[in-house]
Amino acid sequence: MKIDFLKLLRVNKQRLTMKNQLTMIYLQINSALGRYRLDKLLDNDNRSIHCVLMYHGIDSNDWAPLDVPEQAFFNEINFYQQQGYNIVAAASCDDVPRPTLELTFDDGNKNIKASLLKLVRQKIPFTIAICPGVVDTNSIYWFEELLARIQVLNQNDQTASIHELEKCKLQYFSGEIGRDKLLDHYRSKTKQLSEQELKNSKAVHENLNWSELRQLVDSGYCNIACHTLFHDAITALTTEQLKDDLNQCNSMIEQELGIMCDQFICPFGDYTEQYQGVLQECGYKRIYLSNDKVNFTDATKLNVIDRLKGVGLGNFSARYFEHLWLQNHSNRLRP
Ligand SMILES: [Zn+2]
Repeated sequence: MKIDFLKLLRVNKQRLTMKNQLTMIYLQINSALGRYRLDKLLDNDNRSIHCVLMYHGIDSNDWAPLDVPEQAFFNEINFYQQQGYNIVAAASCDDVPRPTLELTFDDGNKNIKASLLKLVRQKIPFTIAICPGVVDTNSIYWFEELLARIQVLNQNDQTASIHELEKCKLQYFSGEIGRDKLLDHYRSKTKQLSEQELKNSKAVHENLNWSELRQLVDSGYCNIACHTLFHDAITALTTEQLKDDLNQCNSMIEQELGIMCDQFICPFGDYTEQYQGVLQECGYKRIYLSNDKVNFTDATKLNVIDRLKGVGLGNFSARYFEHLWLQNHSNRLRP
């Protein structure tokens, strides 16, 4: 294997410190020498590993720390394929030998479209989690509007702005203040920001519309997961509100895309067991979290499935250590 150090640095320079870059290069050398392979780990282990990667946008945008550059994304899935993983759609996990890998993209950002069409050409299945209310109104996510307004108040200071957004989210998750109140507060302080300026903000993603989603679903490789109507944390809703929200999502998805949706991806990874009943009642057979864990059991038997962050580092053997750690701690992960 030939190692292109310059390329490694280019792909990662925006998201890694120099120390981390050097670590990655060290790991890459060992990987090239044939050490640190996931399949060695898997040989010693009969459990069925099912990995789910969580992505958001595919882009290089400093204001969107969850976005991954396209090359890094493809490097990552190539890495898994080289390690013997079969990439599967949620529903067909049973028909494919382990280990298996599922790809999920949260929020339906428009910047994933070109890469998804490449996946379709390679016959690789994937899932997009959408908020039907946001798609339908061609609007933007509430937490992105918040960040865009905070950005104006902080005069483009990125660190201060992201820090302030995190503080808002903590208030939101603790139930101290609802999302509408948070929005009202920042809207009143940034009245000068026009709708168009808001949409053009670096903190805001444009999202896929119904016709683009229809095109992807029609390809036969795209599954749709529900992500609530407007990206509310489910624990911020009462059971009745959640039920009402999910029923609206289901009818919009059915009407616009002609499919019954049975996957639910928890916004912000926010979930407690008490919501499982409502989610199942509303037709969701598979509930996805984001606690950075591998699933060490038969994926089709799982109702609640964990995901790893897709970070575009899969071509490095950092993933080996991730799996090793998970394996060593897997007693706690067994159901
Ligand atoms: Zn989301």
